[in-house]
Amino acid sequence: MCYNIPMYDLIVVGAGPAGLMSALVASEYGFKVLVLEKNERLGEKMRLSGGGRCNISNDLEPEAFLKNLTRGSKFLLSAFSTFDNLTLNDYLEQHGLSLKAEDHNRLFPVGENANEVVSWFENQLAGNDVEIRTNSDVEKLLVDGADVKGVSVNGEEIYAKKVFLACGSNAYPQTGSNGSGYRLVKPLGHKTTDLMSAVAPLYYAKKFRPVDLLKGLDLNDVPIKVISENKTVFEIKHDLLFTHFGLSGPGPMACALAINEHEHARIRLDLSEIYPLDFVVAGRIKINKVLTAVMPQRMAWAVLNLANVDESLKIADMYKEDFEAIERVMHGFEIPIGGTFSIDKSFVIGGGIALDEIKPKSFESKKVKNLHILGETLDLSGFTGGYNIAIAMISGYIAATSLIY
Ligand SMILES: Cc1cc2nc3c(=O)[nH]c(=O)nc-3n(C[C@H](O)[C@H](O)[C@H](O)COP(=O)(O)OP(=O)(O)OC[C@H]3O[C@@H](n4cnc5c(N)ncnc54)[C@H](O)[C@@H]3O)c2cc1C
Repeated sequence: MCYNIPMYDLIVVGAGPAGLMSALVASEYGFKVLVLEKNERLGEKMRLSGGGRCNISNDLEPEAFLKNLTRGSKFLLSAFSTFDNLTLNDYLEQHGLSLKAEDHNRLFPVGENANEVVSWFENQLAGNDVEIRTNSDVEKLLVDGADVKGVSVNGEEIYAKKVFLACGSNAYPQTGSNGSGYRLVKPLGHKTTDLMSAVAPLYYAKKFRPVDLLKGLDLNDVPIKVISENKTVFEIKHDLLFTHFGLSGPGPMACALAINEHEHARIRLDLSEIYPLDFVVAGRIKINKVLTAVMPQRMAWAVLNLANVDESLKIADMYKEDFEAIERVMHGFEIPIGGTFSIDKSFVIGGGIALDEIKPKSFESKKVKNLHILGETLDLSGFTGGYNIAIAMISGYIAATSLIY
């Protein structure tokens, strides 16, 4: 097929953190860039992120940062050798986006407003004369043999030397990220690995008895394990919230991928670390009082209920087996899990375009020349904590930098 002369050096499809970062860096190198976004506004998902505050990155040491990724940490080693999360944070600061740190090394814009991040991108791109077209839903990639030549959007064909596909995943499709990235590259021979919720709240299995006691209770930095077939398949120490339907908060949400990847998985908490118990007390004190000295009453009731120990028992009247049962529940507070929120309600997806089809130094497709695939469209994901937006931006930076080689 014969295509017209390219009108742009680069077309970026999708204006999330991956696409916007790639457009910014490519324009800094002087490339003529067009950004196409199907929504009316840029960065819709980013505007929701971090509860509207945008947990944009994380300042852990890069090695520790990579350990908090659920998919793609090995693949990203090459990118990290030139541009890691710490250099990303410096880049943002040097370009006028001031960041502030919170617990668990999370970084937010100082104004704590996700819209501020989108405006920052808009201003940077405007300063570099990047053309942005919104309401532009790319329906097809134009290829000549195995070489991308441009895109088809709203019935128009637009040509470029390079195309960056940064369409996100299919989590939260109301934000515009509706899986079109997977569909656009399927006819070009790219495969998508199994898609599943990777960061999402968890449902209780119906048989979790103390739900009414515990809903609304939150625990800070509790050790959480995912157990399947009597083996620990994942563990994390983070905050947890009991809700009426299940478990939420960063700890349980980080367990979602492990829950989806393993049969009959359940959650086990080690409460003894956050509520150290001391039974060496006067024998006339009731067991309920010993527990409520270190934990909320509702949790004490739940522990005693699961240990089958009567709350009105005095320490002196208890048997060795009662203490052992309480210890067992404290060290292994089991919560049967029925599943995770579905993909459309998941914060992040596990799965995406297979990484073995992508060059790690440039994010260029191994199947189609001059096509690069970025961000969450790929099988890349991390826990909550700023990892996902950071890796999306890092992919954008690396792909854009590869244009100058
Ligand atoms: C509620 C929520 C809260 C989150 N909070 C955080 C957080 O605090 N920190 C964090 O690190 N991560 C967070 N995440 C995850 C994070 O937002 C995503 O991982 C990240 O936005 C992915 O970036 P991306 O650029 O790859 O894709 P996206 O941000 O999804 O952007 C893709 C863009 O492409 C556009 N698009 C799609 N198809 C087409 C097409 N055919 N033509 C044109 N445009 C197209 C979409 O409209 C969209 O704007 C959160 C996610 C959710 C849902």
